[in-house]
Amino acid sequence: MSADDAVSDPAVRQNAAQLATGDRTDTLLQTDDLVKQFGGFTAADSVDFAVEEGELRCLIGPNGAGKSTLLKLVTGALEPTDGRIYYDGTDITDLAPHERVARGISMKFQVPSVYSDLSVRENVRLPVQRFATGDERARRIEAAIDAAGLAGYEDVPASALSHGQQQQLEIGMAAALDPDLLLLDEPVAGLSVEERDGIAERITRLSEEAGIAFVVIEHDTDFVGRIADEVTVLHQGEVFREGPIEAIESDPAVQRIYLGGEGDGAA
Ligand code: ADP
Ligand code: MG
Repeated sequence: MSADDAVSDPAVRQNAAQLATGDRTDTLLQTDDLVKQFGGFTAADSVDFAVEEGELRCLIGPNGAGKSTLLKLVTGALEPTDGRIYYDGTDITDLAPHERVARGISMKFQVPSVYSDLSVRENVRLPVQRFATGDERARRIEAAIDAAGLAGYEDVPASALSHGQQQQLEIGMAAALDPDLLLLDEPVAGLSVEERDGIAERITRLSEEAGIAFVVIEHDTDFVGRIADEVTVLHQGEVFREGPIEAIESDPAVQRIYLGGEGDGAA
């Protein structure tokens, strides 16, 4: 059976542990029946979610669908109530967040986290200096500035950057950790069309040139269509649909959950 058959056959896909640890080396991330409860509320409900190596996948769904929760479970910021998480052939469910970073998982959270008083270069130096010294440190800092698309802005304080450039800086900082998987929680929320274009270019270039796999949470279907290979729709903590954006966008059931979930569905 080919790798593609394994993905499309639900009976095979069920056995996440086998997939993640077997000879299918192209599955980078796989969650198996992942559950997260907050009190009596289930925010992630038996989620089987997979990302292939180098894949660019978008995660969409109405507010409260469990998107941020799923990514936080993957980084270890949240502990699952039940289920397992496999990464690069290993069960990482019980690893601390920093151990997951060391294995190649990096995340840009929804809340911006650049240091406004520090320059672009000083911001980028923060993640890099934790693991690189000397020439390697200098090289990685320059690479991260380039990945952020901020060459020429090295000495500018982050507070003087536009909102879009700050988001680019954060993506550069996350990429500086040399990840194989980069998780971005709403990187273009509140940005102008031009700023969105800048972020889309950062993401597609890191995907193509560095081979980084992405999971990007974003609602805007134009943006999603520009960057994504595949889309996963979450709804009420469950995987509701998966497929190419064209099929997802025109799916009446998907349109209905957006209408029911948050008014105009355009957010
Ligand atoms: P999304 O990112 O899709 O908008 P979230 O993953 O942030 O959704 O939240 C999913 C649901 O879980 C929401 O109903 C939210 O209120 C709830 N939730 C998220 N984090 C917590 C928490 N720390 N404690 C209690 N409830 C939470
Ligand atoms: Mg969220």
